[in-house]
Amino acid sequence: MSNQPLFDYSQLPAKRATRDNPLRGKSILSVAQFDKEIIEYLFGRTREMREMVQRVGTVNLLRQYVAACIFYEPSTRTSSSFIGAMERLGGRTIPITSGVEFSSVSKGETLADTMQVLEQYADVIVLRHHEIGAAKMAAEYTHVPIINAGDGAGEHPTQALLDLFTIQDELGSLDGLKVAMVGDLRYGRTVHSLTKLLLQYNVKLRFVSPEILRLPLNVMNQVIDAGVDVRETHDVADVIENADVLYVTRVQKERFTDLRQYEEVKNFYEITPELMKRAQEKMVVMHPLPRVGEIHYAVDSDPRAAYFRQVKNGMFVRMALLAAVLGQA
Ligand code: ASP
Repeated sequence: MSNQPLFDYSQLPAKRATRDNPLRGKSILSVAQFDKEIIEYLFGRTREMREMVQRVGTVNLLRQYVAACIFYEPSTRTSSSFIGAMERLGGRTIPITSGVEFSSVSKGETLADTMQVLEQYADVIVLRHHEIGAAKMAAEYTHVPIINAGDGAGEHPTQALLDLFTIQDELGSLDGLKVAMVGDLRYGRTVHSLTKLLLQYNVKLRFVSPEILRLPLNVMNQVIDAGVDVRETHDVADVIENADVLYVTRVQKERFTDLRQYEEVKNFYEITPELMKRAQEKMVVMHPLPRVGEIHYAVDSDPRAAYFRQVKNGMFVRMALLAAVLGQA
């Protein structure tokens, strides 16, 4: 195997080297940290990461860094895309992504202690936890940046950033769009985070859910305070013809205390090819995945189905974030 670096990073546009990095050393806990300027900065780096991967695959930008990825809740995409992102940038990982039950956590170790142990080994910690606010708490105990990879029904900032990037990438802009969010708006943390990010743009929001899964009041109040044009409905048919983005989510079974309630709403929506016939030609269908029946497999071949492109963008956004947080973007 050749030891040649695969890509000369200095060949990237000069603005990259001179632009100030607002994320250096920062924990990524909530989308509230991201204003338009930071988003633009991050998306610029994200496009560079994509170009780099397309051209050469991997670089040695983060060769001297180690990321600990600890997931107290199941994950496929988020964990593997963070690990993939480190790999693509030449960094290393300590993956504790399947089997926290085999770690000291099962012996009763507190989150604060686990974090203070991991920071002895790693330069950044990617954390998914089942409790709202866990990442914020972890950041108070550590000296290395924490990246919130989902805190219960709270937030999922890196998913929201990749969602926003995908919308912009697919449709060319964020302003002027009508975004419809469909499904479990109550427990779906990706919906909470994406909604908050979108409030910075000139968008119209449509929320489609069964009654018991409506958007939480605290998020809805932020929408109202932002003065955004907003409507709620139970019926996808009300939004399908005019939406530019249909953001579909799964009903979050694991958050229900009464499983009978879950059974009542689990099959509330299904996006089918028939329904897609009524949608605009330029609409995009997105989903944070995993899907469990909300989007019919026959929709996958529709060019408007953007969910797998969305997955790919996830790695590029996380590459940009890791590089930025570690001061290498
Ligand atoms: N993967 C996303 C999350 O972790 C969406 C989901 O699980 O439904 O929140």
